[in-house]
Amino acid sequence: MTHQFDTLAIHAGTAPDPATGARQVPIYQTTAYVFRDADHAAKLFNLQEVGYIYSRLTNPTISALANRVCALEGGAGAICCSSGHAAQIMALFPLMAPGRNVVASTRLYGGTIQQFSNTIRKFGWSAKFVDFDDPKAIEAAIDGDTRAIFCETICNPGGAISDLDAIARVADMAGLPLIVDNTTATPYLCRPIEHGATLVVHSATKYLTGNGTVTGGIVVDSGKFNWSASDKFPSLSAPEPAYHGMVFHPTLGGMAFTFHSIAIGLRDLGMTMNPQGAHYTLMGIETLSLRMQRHVENAKMVAEWLEKDPRVEKVTYPGLASNPYHALARKITPNGAGALFTVAVKGGYEACVKLVDSVKLFSHVANLGDTRSLIIHPASTTHRQLSEDAQVAAGAAANVIRLSIGIEDVRDIIADLDQALTAATQ
Ligand SMILES: *Cc1c(COP(=O)(O)O)cnc(C)c1O
Repeated sequence: MTHQFDTLAIHAGTAPDPATGARQVPIYQTTAYVFRDADHAAKLFNLQEVGYIYSRLTNPTISALANRVCALEGGAGAICCSSGHAAQIMALFPLMAPGRNVVASTRLYGGTIQQFSNTIRKFGWSAKFVDFDDPKAIEAAIDGDTRAIFCETICNPGGAISDLDAIARVADMAGLPLIVDNTTATPYLCRPIEHGATLVVHSATKYLTGNGTVTGGIVVDSGKFNWSASDKFPSLSAPEPAYHGMVFHPTLGGMAFTFHSIAIGLRDLGMTMNPQGAHYTLMGIETLSLRMQRHVENAKMVAEWLEKDPRVEKVTYPGLASNPYHALARKITPNGAGALFTVAVKGGYEACVKLVDSVKLFSHVANLGDTRSLIIHPASTTHRQLSEDAQVAAGAAANVIRLSIGIEDVRDIIADLDQALTAATQ
């Protein structure tokens, strides 16, 4: 029997512990697992039987989390990683090779732009950044070496919404997988696989855990992509030398990507989540729906209040009727347009710096998706290294602050912004 989303958030991927009957998922703080006998061990190593070998690969607490997020996203399989950034590398790893590229949106989390611009070049991979509001631009950027298309559902920091259906059509036509970073939306607001995504990546650090306690990442595979339709994905469709010549697809069908990611990705890259972190994220997900409802409710009220304020130049929240992404938000994120947006403050850089120094309830931190309301001035922090033009292009001009609206009483959130705006613009 399949359950509704709110039920899956509490029950999916977990059953009472078979060893003790423990109702909550135990933290299996163990590195290794005893084999029943030599034959059992051989079968596990041959992927003929599913079981636990060593916690760099799989662990019962971490598997429970992978299965839960997989159920919430409507995927076929999932793996957990040590961080959102690790999840991005793990998503690309089976698809890419030296000389290959990923076509990515210009509106990505700053850390991802950095990872894709410079660090992946060390692997011989590269990224081509284009405006994902324009499907023709994506199409034009795809070449014979492209192996993936990458975007975010709700883009950080400006809250732009990606038209996943249109982007998936372009990927489909080119025979390429679409990878969607769904961190800022969560599966409560959007399930990218229903819009044509092949892989969904998460920073579990943010809303999934929800309270700023964990660094973690997750990759969910839809299981729908035909890796054998072309010769572009030999790690999955041809004998894999890294696993004694095993052919993952079509042998393992919709689980090919997931098994490759465990058997080779986690085994050799070692970007593994820890069981304690997985436990916190499982606990967080139990209240995901309730939190996201309050996050979007509060964000809408704060954005509406800010939009009318004479000390404010502009608010980018796609939940506002005045926002250019409003119609798209209703289609892609029907349960709400997230809780992350930017505000352009009159008085420029000076006023913004004063604003972040004057808030009392908001925390001035480089994070988002916490129960607490968070604030940051990108131009003096996360986007500091960029040129002025690049800051403007990223939606992080000198007069812009980013808000991640928490689930406190909205009257207190607004009162804090009110007093800080007064201090900043006097
Ligand atoms: C934070 C974040 C990441 C990176 O995740 P970490 O867990 O910090 O590695 C990736 N994408 C988005 C949209 C994020 O907000």
